Amino acid sequence: MTAAFNFEVKATDGKARGGVITTPRGQIRTPAFMPVGTAGTVKAMLPDSVAATGADIILGNTYHLMLRPTAERIDRLGGLHRFMNWRGPILTDSGGFQVMSLAELRKLTEDGVTFKSHVDGSRHTLTPERSMEIQRLLGSDIVMCFDECPALPATDDEVARAMRLSMRWAERSRAAFGDRPGHALFGIMQGGVTRELREESAEALKSIGFDGYAVGGLAVGEGQEAMFGVLDYAPDCLPADKPRYLMGVGKPDDIVGAVARGIDMMDCVLPTRSGRTGQVFTRRGVVNIKNARHADDPRPLDEECACPACRHYSRAYLHHVFRAQEIISSMLLTWHNLHYYQDLMAGMRAAIAEGRFADWQATFHAARAEGDIAPL
Ligand SMILES: [Zn+2]
Repeated sequence: MTAAFNFEVKATDGKARGGVITTPRGQIRTPAFMPVGTAGTVKAMLPDSVAATGADIILGNTYHLMLRPTAERIDRLGGLHRFMNWRGPILTDSGGFQVMSLAELRKLTEDGVTFKSHVDGSRHTLTPERSMEIQRLLGSDIVMCFDECPALPATDDEVARAMRLSMRWAERSRAAFGDRPGHALFGIMQGGVTRELREESAEALKSIGFDGYAVGGLAVGEGQEAMFGVLDYAPDCLPADKPRYLMGVGKPDDIVGAVARGIDMMDCVLPTRSGRTGQVFTRRGVVNIKNARHADDPRPLDEECACPACRHYSRAYLHHVFRAQEIISSMLLTWHNLHYYQDLMAGMRAAIAEGRFADWQATFHAARAEGDIAPL
């Protein structure tokens, strides 16, 4: 294993960038979409199947894993990669966002957050130092700073206070992370939808110095227009030679718009969660497989998709197993959705490399405007 963590921009087209992140566990082609493996599994998928869709990296959740089965237990069992049998790189979040959104009875201080577990009501404390320790025990390749993302709606004062606290925590995260060759620590920009706060946050992070930079605090209900408004300038505030990660995004058109604005990495539960609720992403937009019009349809979800759900099964079958609540429904629809997302990323990477990203975007939007195939 080499010890280096490295990012190389190989092509740019407008603000869009194509590149490669090199880690000791393998390369990540960017722009990259990271499937979410919340609790040590990408739900309804085997790790080899996740890799077969084209994913180079997955995400794990500190909050969930620290509560169950605990980071210490995963460490004793050889780390998260071995525990869940995923050989590629893993990025872990810091727990900050999910403590704010999932945990009960939070108490926020300068030191960190004390909260009650949503699993069994037990009491826990997360600090920047503890978050770094947990992510080290998990064996994460890309570690995220511990931050506070205020719940919306929030006043400008609340957003500013949370951002400045997050910057002090970023400094503590950096110190606690220490020097770990082959592992990366990413800082997280906060500041809501206020440009001055975003710029202040970017300056604070750059003066600390990180291996990559995330744009946090978006996709939390502000809407696509406001999110794109921030992304019109936020990536430009971050170092051009480091990866830029937009956290928790998103729908396919969010992802395309983010890449067009200079984002290199994204993650979202949408393709996996939607796979379990019968929402299917296709080139022509979202298909609801539970709809009765699919009951007699012998055609695949998407005739151009090479995933097992599209190669071997009809819409009628997928409709049937969804209605019958068969486990294979979640498996096939999740596989298709992840395959669609990875095809989307591969298409953008090729277009950026060949300098035709604007044309690619036009084709992407035109296919969606056509809508799903006509009913039989
Ligand atoms: Zn498919």
